[in-house]
Amino acid sequence: TSYGFRDVQEGEKQGLVNDVFHKVAKRYDIMNDVMSAGLHRVWKNAMVAALNPRKDPAYKVLDVAGGTGDIAFRIIEASDRLAHATVLDINGSMLAVGAERAAKKGLSDNVTFVEANAEELPFEDNSFDAYTIAFGIRNVPHIDVALKEAHRVLKRGGRLLVLEFSEVDMPLLDRFYDEWSFKAIPHFGRMITGDAEPYQYLVESIRKFPNQRDFAAMISKAGFSRVTFTNYTGGIAALHSGWKL
Ligand code: SAM
Repeated sequence: TSYGFRDVQEGEKQGLVNDVFHKVAKRYDIMNDVMSAGLHRVWKNAMVAALNPRKDPAYKVLDVAGGTGDIAFRIIEASDRLAHATVLDINGSMLAVGAERAAKKGLSDNVTFVEANAEELPFEDNSFDAYTIAFGIRNVPHIDVALKEAHRVLKRGGRLLVLEFSEVDMPLLDRFYDEWSFKAIPHFGRMITGDAEPYQYLVESIRKFPNQRDFAAMISKAGFSRVTFTNYTGGIAALHSGWKL
């Protein structure tokens, strides 16, 4: 199989992504630390600080492509364990690891796990106070459809936050980052999971994802207001924010 993204048609894309995350589910959390040199923790904490969740049992967050629950757990802790999070992911293996982690943390009552597609959310209109998605939207084949769904399920006054790898805007960092992502990441991937190709595909999907400005325009197009973005670590990651007004 070749995971070279030029060969990947939209229809196949979801299948490849699913293979990757079924394979890595059990080792996903450690992979994150290795691949981002621990930075994903800093970026995720910054995202949760930007959200500033209400300390209120009625506060409902939908964390899409929520995988093993990382974002949801941080949001719940930041709300003094009062808020409720729904973790939605297309991949049952990732959710199973998440449910185990929730039980260990004593957070099972605060989290619901739902296996579904970001492009077709199984929720009523105007259901959530916030919609978060971290390192997930670039894996979704039709990003415009996922953003429209985000807008639909948010309440009026609800917040959208998207954390994603983005375009590096620092001269030396961009060269180091290229070396790191094209050589080191597939190498670590092979060491930890026995297979480099899926990681190659993930790295390539980062290159293909729209830059900060273009992605902000897509968010506006989906109906969101006051769209802004903040770069983290020279643009390696960026946080986009929008409101349903
Ligand atoms: N948000 C988590 C985090 O930051 O640790 C997990 C991110 S992981 C890189 C990407 C996740 O997106 C995987 O768990 C994958 O199954 C999920 N995913 C991919 N395509 C999806 C889709 N169409 N709908 C919902 N989830 C999807």
